[in-house]
Amino acid sequence: MADQLGVFEKVEDAIAAAKEAQKKLVEGYTLEDRDRFLDSIRKHFMKNMEALTKFELEESGYGRLEDKVLKTTGAVMLSSGTSSLPQRMIASDKGLTVEYFAPYGVVGAVTPVTNPIATVAGNGIGCMISGNAVVVNAHPAAKNCTAAAVHVINEAIVEAGGPLNLVTMVKEPTMETLDVIVKSPDVPLLVGTGGPGMVKALMRSGKKVIAAGAGNPPSIIDETSDVEKAAEGIYSSSSFDNNLLCIAEKELFVVDAILDKFVDALVKVGAYRMTNEQAARVIDYCLIKTPEGEYVPNKKCVGKCANIILAAAGINIDTDPRIAIFEADNSHPLVQTEQMMPIIPIVRCKDFEEAMERAVFAEHDRHHSASIWSKDISRVTAFGRAINTTIYVQNGGTMAAFGIGGSGTNAPTIATPTGEGVTEPGSFTRRRRFCMADGGNYLL
Ligand code: NAD
Repeated sequence: MADQLGVFEKVEDAIAAAKEAQKKLVEGYTLEDRDRFLDSIRKHFMKNMEALTKFELEESGYGRLEDKVLKTTGAVMLSSGTSSLPQRMIASDKGLTVEYFAPYGVVGAVTPVTNPIATVAGNGIGCMISGNAVVVNAHPAAKNCTAAAVHVINEAIVEAGGPLNLVTMVKEPTMETLDVIVKSPDVPLLVGTGGPGMVKALMRSGKKVIAAGAGNPPSIIDETSDVEKAAEGIYSSSSFDNNLLCIAEKELFVVDAILDKFVDALVKVGAYRMTNEQAARVIDYCLIKTPEGEYVPNKKCVGKCANIILAAAGINIDTDPRIAIFEADNSHPLVQTEQMMPIIPIVRCKDFEEAMERAVFAEHDRHHSASIWSKDISRVTAFGRAINTTIYVQNGGTMAAFGIGGSGTNAPTIATPTGEGVTEPGSFTRRRRFCMADGGNYLL
C-alpha cells in the first residue's frame, strides 16, 4: 500500500500534494496535454480493468463482475475531454467579453461503496480535464480498490509526462478525515456521490457542493409498448450490477391490460417469478424496519445475486436469474424503498394515469431517474413533466442516457439535488469574465 501513487497516510498530506499538482497542471501544461493524460488513463484503466473490477467485487462484496467491467469501461471510455469545456463570448461595438470556465483548485470527492472505481475515475477525469486536482475520501468498505484505482490514474498521468498527485486519497478514510477535507481552506469545492446522510453532511459545510444523491427509479410499461422489448430492456437494465446503480429501475408500474403478458415475457428472458409465499419470505429478509418505522435494505442483500438472496431466505433454486420478480401492492415497502438488490416489485395499475400517479409518488421527489415503455408520445411527455427527474428514458433502460443502448456521455456522478445533472468537466468550473471595454477588439 505504501508505494501506491497518490495514496497518503495523512489526509493533510493528500490535500497538500493535490494542491501542488494542480498548480503544476495549470501553470505548466496545455489543454492538449490534459487530453493526452485522458488517453493514457483510458489505456491504463483498460489494461487493469479485470484486476480492478475483481478487486472491487471482492472488497465490497457487491454486484456482478461482467457488469462492473462494462460500467467502469463506460465511465472511462465515454467520459468527456477538453472539447466539452464550455466557452462563451459576447461581442458588440462596445467591446468584447469572454467567459472562461476556470478550475476551482482542489476538489474534495466523497465516493460510494456501490460504485467506487468508476466514481473515482469519473471524478478524477472530470476534474483533471477542467484543470482541478481531487482529494478523495473513499467509502471505508471500498478503500483498497479505490486506492488501486487512484494509483492507476496517477501512473497513467505520470507516464504521459504529467504531474503526480492530481488524484490523491487518504489510506484510511474516516468521518474525521472527511471533516479535515471539508474544513480545509485549500478545498473550495466538494463533490459527493452517495446517500442522503452524506448529502446533508456536505450541504452543512458552507462550501459549494455538487451532490449526487439517492434515487428510487420507477418504470412504467403501458399497453401501447412493445411488451417483449420492454421485458428484455428491463431485465438487462434493472439487473445491472445486481441493481446497485442509482439509475437502475427499482419498481415497475404496469398497466393491467398487459401485465400478465409482460411478466411472461420477463420470465422468458430469464427472470424468476416468486410465488406469494416465497416473496413474503424474501421481503421479510431483504428489508429491515427501523425503530422510526422506516424500511431500509438489509446490507446482507444489497448488490447480491437473486439466487443468493433467495437461498438466504430458505428458497433454493438451481439457476442464476438476473432478477426475481413478484406482484406487489403499491404501498409495499419494496416499492417505496431504494432496495439496490435484484428483487423487483411489479405493481398492477388499472390504467396509464394510475401508473403515472404511483410512479411519481414512488420517486419521492428525488429528481433522479425514471423510464417509460410506451409508443404514445403524449403519455411520454405527460410522465416526463410530472416526474421531473434528471434522467428520463423512453423505450430503453435508464443506462441508454449514458451511451449504453442510447446516445450520451458517461459519468458515474449524477448530481440530482444540486442540479448539475450528469457531471462533465464543465461542472467543476467557475465562470470568469474578461472584458475588453470601450469598443476593444470589435472588428466590424
Ligand atoms: P453512503 O451514503 O453510505 O456512502 C457514500 C459516501 O458517503 C461514503 O464515502 C461514506 O463514507 C460517506 N458517508 C456516509 N454517510 C455519511 C455521513 N453521514 N456524513 C458524511 N459522509 C458520509 O452510500 P453508499 O452505500 O456508498 O452508496 C449508495 C447510495 O449512493 C445510494 O443511495 C445510491 O443511490 C447513491 N448513489 C448515487 C449516485 C448518483 O450519481 N446520484 C451514484 C452512486 C450512488
